Amino acid sequence: MIPRTTCACLAVALVAALPAAAAPSREAGWLADYLRVDTTNPPGNEAAAAALLAGLLREQGLPSERYVTPAGRVSLAARLPATVADAPVVVLLHHLDVVAAGEGWSVPPFAGEIRDGALWGRGAIDAKGLGIAQLAGLLAAAELPVRRRELLWLAVADEEAGGGAGTAFLLEHHPALFARVEAVIGEGGLNRTVLGRTLSWGIEVAQKRPLWLDVVARGRPGHASGRNPESAAHRLIAGLARALAAPEPWRVTPAARRYFEALAPFDPQARAVAGELDAIAASGRPTGAIQPGMAGLFVDTFQITQLAASERINVVAAEARASIDARLLPDTDESAWLAALRERLGPGLEVAVRLSSPPSEPSPAEGPVWRALGAGLTGRGPVVPVFISGITDARHFRERGVAAYGISPFELEPELGRAVHGPDERIPLAAFDAGVARLRRIARALAAGEDLAAEAKR
Ligand SMILES: [Zn+2]
Repeated sequence: MIPRTTCACLAVALVAALPAAAAPSREAGWLADYLRVDTTNPPGNEAAAAALLAGLLREQGLPSERYVTPAGRVSLAARLPATVADAPVVVLLHHLDVVAAGEGWSVPPFAGEIRDGALWGRGAIDAKGLGIAQLAGLLAAAELPVRRRELLWLAVADEEAGGGAGTAFLLEHHPALFARVEAVIGEGGLNRTVLGRTLSWGIEVAQKRPLWLDVVARGRPGHASGRNPESAAHRLIAGLARALAAPEPWRVTPAARRYFEALAPFDPQARAVAGELDAIAASGRPTGAIQPGMAGLFVDTFQITQLAASERINVVAAEARASIDARLLPDTDESAWLAALRERLGPGLEVAVRLSSPPSEPSPAEGPVWRALGAGLTGRGPVVPVFISGITDARHFRERGVAAYGISPFELEPELGRAVHGPDERIPLAAFDAGVARLRRIARALAAGEDLAAEAKR
């Protein structure tokens, strides 16, 4: 008996000495449930995710409202009113949909599995993690006795396909939802984190503009055994080759200048680029300081992403198609750019615009919302206004003159950032919980609106 008892005591002592895996936070549990709803776009299937979130909100005592497109795409809104009349509104925005999981995962992408201290699944970072952190912010703000700002938490459909059935639909068909909006806080922040230390917190204030095009060439169909110079595929390829041969002038936009100059004090690479901006502007060409991945911030890019013609090797198709994903700088004249492209493609090719976005001013890197974001994101490390080459729903607001800010409240190593849209997207639980705490600070500060109280006294 005695030895056995000793043995058991030893086992208990050993278990107690091991670092206990802390139970996931309440918010991590919510995120796991959210990741288990497959909202791959297309088709999106946002209704199930919206139902889950509406249930969560209801349990926490907050009502929400669904907005549905004629095709059945669902977005969800929850409003936390101010305790004063006619208060300005800050929107906490994220998207319900995710891109396809793709191949190469170490875990099932829609299982919401916790492994090695991280929560794994498509959308963990982009953007369901942000959505849950914002929801926690909303709940924290609800506890305040006095709220001088209203918060509108918004989970939208379709961001990954351009937002036509999500943010753009809401802005067009439900403009009342956005009455008195002062600013929008969504995804798109770009922090620089190295070995657990965040060197700078990047708040996105400007981005490229998508111009998605479908190009069609028509020609004489027939059997491939004959000579056929009027082949649709040949016309398409010749036109695209002329377009690809177009010169690619480098330009320094105010957005790029502000970004590199703001980052320069904290980042040697950015400092080198900032020192060469005038040379780039004067020559229209890259300089030695430009690193891989930076070119998109200086040129209008043009990528042929899809090609289609005949389905059979020995049949000449009547029609050949290409899709082009072009990304324009914030101040590029879209119609002039399109006219130049059409000219290079040649007269026989039809060009249809699938998605475009008008020019817009960068959001101001100043003012109360900017300051609340900076203070809430970081106790350490500077905050810089960032210009990104990707696109987010922020552009729908900026083009309407509403300030929009892209943030990432999570301190993530670059390797984790690369898993966004790739295999093994995951978020360490500690980083997630710290991000939730940041969103609570931000939401409480904005809702409390001390700045508005100070203004009223003046
Ligand atoms: Zn996203």
